[in-house]
Amino acid sequence: MQAEIVMIGTELLLGEIVDTNATMFAKALRDIGMDLLYKTTVGDNEDRIADVLDIALDRSDVILTSGGIGPTVDDMTRQCVARATGRKLVYSKVLENQIASRFRNFGREMADNNKRQAYIPEGAMPLENPMGTAPCFLSEDAQGRGCVISLPGVPRELDHMLHKVVIPILIDRMGGSKITKVRVLRTCAVGESNIDRTIGDLMTGNNPTVGLAAHAGQTDVRVAAKADTEEEADALIAPMEAELRKRLGVAIYGTGKETVAEVVGALLREKGLTIGVVDTLTDGQIVREFEENGAGDVVAAQRDANMDGKDDPRALTEAMARAVAPEDGVGLAMVGPYDGGGTFMAVYGSNPRSRTCIESRRFQNSDHIRRWLVIQGLDLVRRAVLGKLASPAD
Ligand code: ATP
Ligand code: MG
Repeated sequence: MQAEIVMIGTELLLGEIVDTNATMFAKALRDIGMDLLYKTTVGDNEDRIADVLDIALDRSDVILTSGGIGPTVDDMTRQCVARATGRKLVYSKVLENQIASRFRNFGREMADNNKRQAYIPEGAMPLENPMGTAPCFLSEDAQGRGCVISLPGVPRELDHMLHKVVIPILIDRMGGSKITKVRVLRTCAVGESNIDRTIGDLMTGNNPTVGLAAHAGQTDVRVAAKADTEEEADALIAPMEAELRKRLGVAIYGTGKETVAEVVGALLREKGLTIGVVDTLTDGQIVREFEENGAGDVVAAQRDANMDGKDDPRALTEAMARAVAPEDGVGLAMVGPYDGGGTFMAVYGSNPRSRTCIESRRFQNSDHIRRWLVIQGLDLVRRAVLGKLASPAD
């Protein structure tokens, strides 16, 4: 079964509110393994809402709407659903009594315009909304294309209706819920486009799906599988993970929420290595990352940050990494900016395979660039300790 969501409200199109309801829908559907294929946002306009619903019914089995079921003139979801599903809008005395009694419970008088809320598409199943006055409803399309479930815009009401009422109905219609399992493989210091080039052909599958998410110097590779049981989902993910690991190799530093600093800290401890750092780029951030992640005492050497006029920055950086390397450990030099903003990073370990020098990205005095450089420095040490300084994705 395939779902789509239709978010109704002009305020959403004007950017006045953030569409948190869509996120709520998306998470709830994902949790039961129902595919959500489209999300549309439409303003409070009868023709356009009816059009959107008609298109949705053509391509999806279940359409969930949010908003526009209140008592005011701009709340027009009821008539639009009636139009799209080919039903008449009918007045329900039962609903009117329900609404009136809710008002009595709140100690208020029902206004005339609240009677609008007693109209629903003919044959629709009312879904009682204990958090508000507007009844929700489920309408089957007259041509049998699917159903529309109309829910409130007020997030607190939607939350209740969605989780307590609608999700059980959907699970029942699906014949049981499925589970979606997600495995995140984390890479860093390799551009998103390089990853894309290396594994792009794996990103077109359906189950599992493979997707990328990039943030400050890191790219997460997300593998999601849907199945009846956790074991079946694991069995779908495992061969894909093996293939991704084969292709990306050392570029994958960890999984889940692991950070590269945690991973490199653990690696240094495990190997009993200490680390020496010369850093003129990150305001001491890289040293703090090593210390906070249990890399032991960091030997931090001071250098003048002014690199202007130096002839051979690469050789100089290599020499600094060698000079700062403890006897039983790894030296890291992150230095620059040289004339025009260039930066270099070198690592030096006792094994010749743990030594390299790279030209890194141009320096700019911004938190984002510093963060990026910290991650690249941490990753260089990780790769040096593993003796694998290059990966297929580099
Ligand atoms: P009401 O009975 O209050 O009129 P309604 O079902 O008609 O409810 P709307 O009028 O569309 O819903 O929205 C009510 C309020 O809910 C909006 O003012 C807004 O604050 C919030 N809201 C609506 N849609 C969303 C959304 N997609 N995401 C987050 N909040 C929303
Ligand atoms: Mg409203």
